[in-house]
Amino acid sequence: MDEVEYLKDSYKKEFETKVKKVKDKFVVLENTIFYPNSGGQPHDEGKIIRDSDEFKVVYVGKFDGEISHEVDKEGLKEGDEVKLVLDWERRYKLMRSHTAAHLVSAIFHNEAGAKITGNQLNLDKTRIDFSLDEFDKEKIIEYIEKCNEYIEKDLKVTDSYMSREEVEKNPDLVKLAKGLPEGIKELRMLEIEGLDKQPDGGTHVKSLKEIGKIVFVKADNKGAKNRRVYFSLEDANNNC
Ligand SMILES: [Zn+2]
Repeated sequence: MDEVEYLKDSYKKEFETKVKKVKDKFVVLENTIFYPNSGGQPHDEGKIIRDSDEFKVVYVGKFDGEISHEVDKEGLKEGDEVKLVLDWERRYKLMRSHTAAHLVSAIFHNEAGAKITGNQLNLDKTRIDFSLDEFDKEKIIEYIEKCNEYIEKDLKVTDSYMSREEVEKNPDLVKLAKGLPEGIKELRMLEIEGLDKQPDGGTHVKSLKEIGKIVFVKADNKGAKNRRVYFSLEDANNNC
């Protein structure tokens, strides 16, 4: 299974590769550590360096199966040897938020049978949409506290690959209401040790303690069953 570099090692902050294709300010690389905007996780930022020339990465998206990096100026050419450098502070915050979102989803699912209908990570706060019959703010705050208890236990976070058939045979594995992505035969499964396992293509921290502390921000009612919950993160003590 060919993995992109950001999935192979989400902690890689720098990487050397070659330019595969260029059109104006849009650059495709042979491999990349830049995460493209998808699945509720915003794209990475940083720079592509060729010799002493720096190109700022302003947007990263996935188009027709290829990851395209939009840079701030033209000039990169096919075949160029380049060094990639991530804005690590931004990425690490998003990794912590993404793992936190999985933890919150798992607890809401286990405690209340909630189904996740959407989520959006942001640098200041994360939003998760649930379908849940009863709306009880006190309960939601209680669930968030439970999440923090799990963080204290410092469960490990790992990934592995499973065939689509295997995943489909086990409906518990798929908490997203909309089901599995189309046309993918092999799925990357993200697991929070003993608590949650689901298909995922994002970048995550290695253990729950890195999340820090989850802080409830607010909860909104978005219709008969739709709930929207916002949380933010407090830094872990030994932030790397
Ligand atoms: Zn995810």
